[in-house]
Amino acid sequence: MTQNLKRCSGTKYPGDKTRILTEPHYTERSNFNKNKNTKDGLMPICRECQGAYAKLWNAENPDYHTKRREENPDYMANWRSENTEHIREYNANYRTKNPEIVKESNAKWRAENVEHIREYLTNWRAKNPDYQINWRAENLDKLRSNEQRRRALKAEAFDEEVKPEILLELHGSVCYLCGQDVLTLPDKWHMEHAIPLSRGGRHSYPNIRVSCADCNLRKNAKTLHEYLGNDPERYDNVDPEAFNRTMHWHAHNTPEIFQ
Ligand SMILES: [Zn+2]
Ligand SMILES: [Zn+2]
Repeated sequence: MTQNLKRCSGTKYPGDKTRILTEPHYTERSNFNKNKNTKDGLMPICRECQGAYAKLWNAENPDYHTKRREENPDYMANWRSENTEHIREYNANYRTKNPEIVKESNAKWRAENVEHIREYLTNWRAKNPDYQINWRAENLDKLRSNEQRRRALKAEAFDEEVKPEILLELHGSVCYLCGQDVLTLPDKWHMEHAIPLSRGGRHSYPNIRVSCADCNLRKNAKTLHEYLGNDPERYDNVDPEAFNRTMHWHAHNTPEIFQ
């Protein structure tokens, strides 16, 4: 028996202790929820058995939480504040087990709460005005070398001077990655190298698009395909015309990157 295994005592049916729901068995210690009141700090039954029991128990007691809520409006809030560790553990566990579902629901939430997120970020920045300044001070060396690398790349990839006003005229003021009008956003808009300079893209009109700061920073050194991946939802926001023009240009000019 290795040290990482622990015996799960198994569990009986809720409401009928004569029937066995799950047999005792050994399983990894990491499969047990924490419990402050036990000797080893873990529940006597594993998470899976606990879940199976809870499922049946909840089915038998559908009104339990509703009743408690009626008796005490703060019931759920109290329960949550008393079980923060349990909730955190449960959520973390759920996230690792269901990465696709989590990714999807996060994307959906973000799409439905664009305004909310923007407001939150603006408020946060206002409340933490020193954050960016401090970060810069602490990372000056890193910034400097990033900036130098970027300049060197740009010098090497420099085909022509690209003027912002001409870009706006060519492509309009819509971020080609998320569809927001960049002129309505609080941050300065960026010139986005569709093919990053670090990947062989040129500093020239055909390779530069209008983008919001967020999208530009997020896309960073990725190609369009790498950035958008295979998630169809992400393509919904992309300005199709700009996207097609970019793809067309990629196919002709950088077939080695374009697949
Ligand atoms: Zn078990
Ligand atoms: Zn954008």
